[in-house]
Amino acid sequence: MEKSSTAQKYQWGVGHDLDNSRYLRPPMIPFSPPRIDDRTVKAVEEVLRSGWITTGPRTKEFERRLAAYIGVDRVLALNSWTNACELVLRWYGIGPGDEVILPAYTYCATANIVMHVGAKPVLVDVLDDFTIDPEAVRKAMTNRTKCIIPVDVGGLPARVNDLMRIAEEATVLFTPKVNLRVAGSNPQMRLGRALVLSDAAHSFGATIAGQPTGRQADITGYSFHAVKNLTTAEGGALAFNLPAPFNADELYAWFNTMSLHGQSKDALAKTQPGAWRYDVEFPGYKCNMTDLQAAIGLVELERYDAETLPRRAAICARYDAAFRDDDRFVLPTMQADDRQGCHHLYMLRVAHATEAQRDAIITAIAKRSVSVNVHFIPLPMLSYYKGLGYRIEDHPNTYAQYSREISLPVYFDLSDEQVDQVVAAVKAAVSEVLGA
Ligand SMILES: *Cc1c(COP(=O)(O)O)cnc(C)c1O
Repeated sequence: MEKSSTAQKYQWGVGHDLDNSRYLRPPMIPFSPPRIDDRTVKAVEEVLRSGWITTGPRTKEFERRLAAYIGVDRVLALNSWTNACELVLRWYGIGPGDEVILPAYTYCATANIVMHVGAKPVLVDVLDDFTIDPEAVRKAMTNRTKCIIPVDVGGLPARVNDLMRIAEEATVLFTPKVNLRVAGSNPQMRLGRALVLSDAAHSFGATIAGQPTGRQADITGYSFHAVKNLTTAEGGALAFNLPAPFNADELYAWFNTMSLHGQSKDALAKTQPGAWRYDVEFPGYKCNMTDLQAAIGLVELERYDAETLPRRAAICARYDAAFRDDDRFVLPTMQADDRQGCHHLYMLRVAHATEAQRDAIITAIAKRSVSVNVHFIPLPMLSYYKGLGYRIEDHPNTYAQYSREISLPVYFDLSDEQVDQVVAAVKAAVSEVLGA
């Protein structure tokens, strides 16, 4: 394959000779490199030189801007979606004997946090758009159901409003437990129903009925991992949207404290002269975001609507135009009813491929110097969950989607010529493997 001009152009940092670029040779179109340029580097450098590198003014500013973007009172930035959402399950007092409903089609993190707290993941099937089937959730609700975690796969929001209704209608089933860790207020008693915790790891900036994700579920978790639409290298955030009498400031305070060992004062507060004394009421966790990460996030957020989202949408539109009239392919759903996705992934499906053929197509694409991916290997197909007795046969639509799925590169720096190269590689690979 010829060395492409775009691959030559590609650098991890413009004007910064970071050694990582050698990993990209021979010239491959990478799957999802972060957008790192002089602005990002400068923002991080400023933090490094400021003398304050852990949680501090940048993190607090990032949280305020995220809350304003989403339209909620409070957002807490943490070190990952995983730790942020595990903390939510712990706050809600979820543990042994409890059930959490989630789709079989998701990243392992969604189920792993349920295992961490000792509860049982109850897996249900997905719809053709890859999101959780609300009717399957309704049927799976029991008196042990404490939480529902829909996943906004590929950036398309799940039907979160329907799930909120299902949780509200199932209050008669709900059997609250006391959580002594949350002083003065028992969240299960107060809410009186299953908590809806949205996995919006893919869907920052997506909307339902014109409202950003984060405004529908009780609590929404975002990921700012390096491959996500908006990155802080590693990072995550929680948007609080619980109904009264829950109070966003109180929630923020509890989660913030529990992200710092349950310590009553954070590092910044302790720098005030003489303010050294603190207390610990509960043994907390350690999952705060650093100002180095927040500095990256602030740059990302500032150009998110004006640059990131439009470019991602344009790339997906170019893929759509190239695959639409070719009946060997099934296009991903980027928008449906009142849900507008944020173009996180381009989840193409090969119409009549078996799983083995799909795998062979990916190998044939890689030979043509294009990196693609599969989102996701369903939970029942991972050794651990299989070992617990989960069966992929119980989730036929999850398997039908997964077995034909190939995620194509989508990222800000991907040029139109590279998109065309990806299209050509995919079509040639399908012809090679399926002979059509
Ligand atoms: C990336 C991802 C997560 C985990 O996010 P981290 O910030 O890496 O913990 C959770 N759910 C889904 C669907 C993801 O893709």
